[in-house]
Amino acid sequence: MSVRAGCPAWLGRITLRPMSTPDSNTPSRTGTLTISGFQRFIFDKYYATDSARGTPPTFMWFIEEIGELSTALANNAPGKQPTAEQRGNLEEEFADVFAWLCTLANINNVDLAAALDKYLVKGVEGVKS
Ligand SMILES: [Mg+2]
Repeated sequence: MSVRAGCPAWLGRITLRPMSTPDSNTPSRTGTLTISGFQRFIFDKYYATDSARGTPPTFMWFIEEIGELSTALANNAPGKQPTAEQRGNLEEEFADVFAWLCTLANINNVDLAAALDKYLVKGVEGVKS
C-alpha cells in the first residue's frame, strides 16, 4: 500500500485488506477489529474535516462525548433498570468517545497502538484507587 499524501508514516504502515478477509485490519463486524485499523478507518473517513477543524474544537467535541458517556453510565448504574435503548446508548457512547479519541490522535500525529505500548510493553506501575 502506498502512503497517501498527508498520511502519517505510521498509518501508512498499516495494511488494510478487503472487508471480507477474516483477519482484516479494516473495521468490520466479520473481521478482527484492531486499534490501528479503527484509527486508520477514522483517518480515511474524517481526516480532511478533522484537520481543518483543528485540535481545540475537536477536543470540545471529545469532551461533549465524555459528557454523553457520563449520562449513559448514570442511566446504567447499579440499582438502575435501564431500558434496552439506554443500554444501547451506553455502548454507543463508548464508541463515540473512542472514535473522537482516534480523531484527536490522528490530527496530532499520535499512533494510539504504539502509545498503548506504555501498558503492554513497558508496563505501568501503580494502581488508581
Ligand atoms: Mg455520543
